[in-house]
Amino acid sequence: MQDIVLTFLRSGAELPSPPAIAVRILEETKKDDCSLDGLARIIEADPALALKILRLSNSSYYGLVAKVKSLPRALSVLGLNAVKNIVLSFVLIDNFRNSDENAFNYDLFWRRSVTAAVSADLVSEVIGKPNEDIFLTALLQNIGVLLLYICRQEDYLGVLEDTRFNPSSWEAVEAERFGFNHQDVGTQVLKDWGLPENIYRPIGFHHSPQEAPSDFREISRILRIADNLSLLYTEEHSAVIIETLKRDFDEHFDIPPEQVDDLIDTTARRTVELLSIFDIPPGGMKPFSQILQDANTELGRLNLTYEQLVLQYKSAKESAENLARELQKANQKLRQLATTDGLTGLYNHRTFQDLLEKRVGEANRHKRHLTLALLDLDNFKQVNDGYGHSVGDAVLKAVSAKIAGMLRREDIFARYGGEEFAVILPETEIKGAMQLADRLRKAVAQMVLNIKGASLSVTVSIGLSSNLPHLGKCDKADLIDASDKALYMAKSAGRNAVRIALLNPTISDESHPACSAR
Ligand code: GH3
Ligand code: MG
Ligand code: MG
Repeated sequence: MQDIVLTFLRSGAELPSPPAIAVRILEETKKDDCSLDGLARIIEADPALALKILRLSNSSYYGLVAKVKSLPRALSVLGLNAVKNIVLSFVLIDNFRNSDENAFNYDLFWRRSVTAAVSADLVSEVIGKPNEDIFLTALLQNIGVLLLYICRQEDYLGVLEDTRFNPSSWEAVEAERFGFNHQDVGTQVLKDWGLPENIYRPIGFHHSPQEAPSDFREISRILRIADNLSLLYTEEHSAVIIETLKRDFDEHFDIPPEQVDDLIDTTARRTVELLSIFDIPPGGMKPFSQILQDANTELGRLNLTYEQLVLQYKSAKESAENLARELQKANQKLRQLATTDGLTGLYNHRTFQDLLEKRVGEANRHKRHLTLALLDLDNFKQVNDGYGHSVGDAVLKAVSAKIAGMLRREDIFARYGGEEFAVILPETEIKGAMQLADRLRKAVAQMVLNIKGASLSVTVSIGLSSNLPHLGKCDKADLIDASDKALYMAKSAGRNAVRIALLNPTISDESHPACSAR
């Protein structure tokens, strides 16, 4: 991981260098003979900085009884290490601000960082382990965010966008884009800048304290809790943050909830004061009591909305499922209506035409036999006239059911129209078709139909024609014409008969080997 970060930092990423005054302060404090005087000289070179330190020494943050009037006095009251940390905080915040920037809110960044620094300081106090460096450590824990943004604005705006609605995925989103996250960058850069190990190492684990080496684990935990606490004052959805915070405090620091409330409250008060010294606008920092109230309202709203959502979701899901089922049924019905005949349930004329087209195509492609039979009930008008139309209907149904029961699965049976039917017989030569047609003819003739008290019989005439695959391709319309011609011949022959017509006009109908039956 360190290698990737180093490669990134050394690969021309225009990383800002630390401000000169920070470098001098760091160098000075590393000297064995470092003195408050030496530090004072560096600070005095920047009157604005000196003034800020004076203001800070007199703030309630340090709660000093006597007013501090001079810088040397301030330094001696605060102590060497505290001064170093304070100065670095001022200098770094001042240096990394850009008010013209719209996409990245520097004020918000530093407001969060100062809040985190204040709360980290408080936590270490409350757990009885005061730590002079914790303020600066917490202040700088997210400096990696700033640096990544400065070096890779485009990419980092993408991270900001991707994490807008899910801030907890922040490190994961960074890692996906860069191969490392802001913890790694922060650690490496602060190390390069010469900050001490006890500051830059825990920063590398502030999102995963459990992975920190034991020496730095507790500090990393404080950093994480302080980081979360800073969210409380800068983000919405405080109810969730409060829950997380309380759990963390309870699990890792054994601080009772009332004391946690107190700590959160004190953080806000101290932060607001510090922000003014750091010249950072306080934003909408509310007292904790107000945040708690908002959180409760938010929780109520969340629960209500959740229940409503569940109900809405359930009923929406049910009606969507019902709708889908009905649609499926309707579609099925529509398909059926579109392809079949209402009275007999057979394929309708249009479907017959489509299927014949396909079968003719297949027969032509694979040089296979295909026969088309057209059937027409004989003198059917007399049935209607004699028994009524509804009896006629019942006859049509009964006869078509009888025929359907005698066909193979692959045969296609359709109502051609009125009392006419068609059977497409794939892979069937004229001879076999002739035998089948005659069986059908006989079976129909043998039917005794008892309908509405009437007992009647009907006959059928059938015309057949087949393709001649060895002689070439056949045309659908020619096949229909030929079968129709054969049917006419059957009628002419006295009805209740089967006749064949040939497709090839050069061969006479009569010369076909099996040209008639009855
Ligand atoms: P042919 O032997 O020459 O075919 O005589 P046909 O009476 O069967 O022929 P025609 O074409 O003169 O009459 C067909 C009759 O079929 C007329 C019509 O009333 C009847 N028909 C057609 N479709 C239906 C139907 O859906 N239901 C009923 N009940 N009758 C139908
Ligand atoms: Mg008829
Ligand atoms: Mg007819």
